[in-house]
Amino acid sequence: MQRVAILYDASQAVLSTFDLDEVLNQVLAIVRDYFHLQHGSIMLLDETKQNLVVRAHFGDQLPDDFSVPFGKGISGAAAKARRPIYSPDVGTDPRYIKNIQSTRSELAVPLMVRDEVVGVLDCQSDLPAFFDNETVDLLTLFATQASIGLQNAKLYSQLQSRAAQMEAINAIAKRTTVELDLKELLDRLCTQLPQSFPIEAVTVFLRDEEGDLVLRAQQGEMECSMKLGDVLPGNFGCSMHLDSQRPYTGDPRGCPNACYPKGKTEVCLPLVSFGENIGLLVCASEKESKIPPSDIQALESVADILATATQNARYVDRVRQLAYRDGLTGVFNRRYFESRLVDEVTRAARYGGGVSVLMIDLDHFKKINDDFGHMLGDDVLRAVSSLFVRYLRKVDVVCRYGGEEFAIVLPATQGASAAAVANKLRRAVASHHFPGVPYPVTVSIGVSEFPSNGITRDDIVRAADAALYEAKEGGRNRVCLASTATANTSAGEG
Ligand code: GH3
Ligand code: MG
Ligand code: MG
Repeated sequence: MQRVAILYDASQAVLSTFDLDEVLNQVLAIVRDYFHLQHGSIMLLDETKQNLVVRAHFGDQLPDDFSVPFGKGISGAAAKARRPIYSPDVGTDPRYIKNIQSTRSELAVPLMVRDEVVGVLDCQSDLPAFFDNETVDLLTLFATQASIGLQNAKLYSQLQSRAAQMEAINAIAKRTTVELDLKELLDRLCTQLPQSFPIEAVTVFLRDEEGDLVLRAQQGEMECSMKLGDVLPGNFGCSMHLDSQRPYTGDPRGCPNACYPKGKTEVCLPLVSFGENIGLLVCASEKESKIPPSDIQALESVADILATATQNARYVDRVRQLAYRDGLTGVFNRRYFESRLVDEVTRAARYGGGVSVLMIDLDHFKKINDDFGHMLGDDVLRAVSSLFVRYLRKVDVVCRYGGEEFAIVLPATQGASAAAVANKLRRAVASHHFPGVPYPVTVSIGVSEFPSNGITRDDIVRAADAALYEAKEGGRNRVCLASTATANTSAGEG
């Protein structure tokens, strides 16, 4: 009876901690000290249920990660039979797998949680028939208590990792409300996820305007069959399950079209916003162990946050775009012109190639308003803007500077070519028929370039303005280059 009391106290000690290693060591210390055993170990059943792996032991040194197959050896047999197995003389027991030279008798007690085997408490003695019935019963009783301690520690560690995941997700969620740059948000998320989940690689695809899923962010060391900017083909494993709008977990081995062909698990989470598939989050692991369902649930929350954040960032982008657009003509406004010119000057200063500016003013525009009314004047401004956009490259930046004045940034363009472009625009306007205006509409244009006419934004604009003034003075419907700031009716013509 006294032994039962001691054991009860020991069990309380085991139950008093949530740290798994501490629980294991307490259990073994009790086995060693109360039962006077020479060797003991706790083996835990691995997740694939194929092996019992030694997690803690005392006595003779065991090789690192020593394991026995489920069903094999005394301990494997106990796990399989789900009851204690006692071998009083291991020398004559065919099940015995020899790993410690001096062992003569062995008792293996399965560690059970509810009706599930989670491991084995293996006790070995250098004496034959060391375990009497009472000792077997007591050790079995103790193993039951130890299982509970083990399970508590496991639950606690799961809880802790869940709490850490939730904290990380929460941090990302909080950031998304302040972080409106989508690219940065995606990169941070991709870096964060492998730190909080049992995954090694992350890829995010977002649907573009054409409906293609484009790879927008990626992290991790694992080999991926796609790179930044690639479009996810429809026949890829992860794109097949998008319509279900549910997470999909699969083993990419054997799948001819996988994002991570060398991975062992791939989790594909559709990004859904207001019922619409706006992207895909792919997480992969190259480890054999499965990603637990609770982690997949948590990843689903991440996907939801990401979907919302993506929509928010796009919305903000659109609002930002509107702030840079001119309401009447739809081209960029003066604010955008000014910030963009600074960017282009910085770029040209670093990489060369120059940048030019055209300042354009409609000639005698007041007369058009006076003759045909303001509404028709507005139509002319819109039509002129469209002409400019149509005649220029995609990289050129057409802006309404104010009133009937336009400013155009021509990236990577030097003055002489800019003057030729200006003349092309001038001719296009002069020869265009504006409905409701029975006479030609013309423009005067001043051209300046970085760096020869100025190295700051204001100097470059001032030089273009001065050239525009020269063009007006020279008789209008003409182009003037800042460097030749004399009336030159045919600058760049030819
Ligand atoms: P110049 O050849 O010297 O440039 O002559 P101008 O008549 O074009 O120049 P001025 O600066 O005297 O007149 C500009 C006119 O542009 C006056 C103004 O009413 C008109 N204007 C400015 N903004 C708008 C607009 O948004 N819509 C319309 N319809 N007219 C505008
Ligand atoms: Mg004007
Ligand atoms: Mg004018």
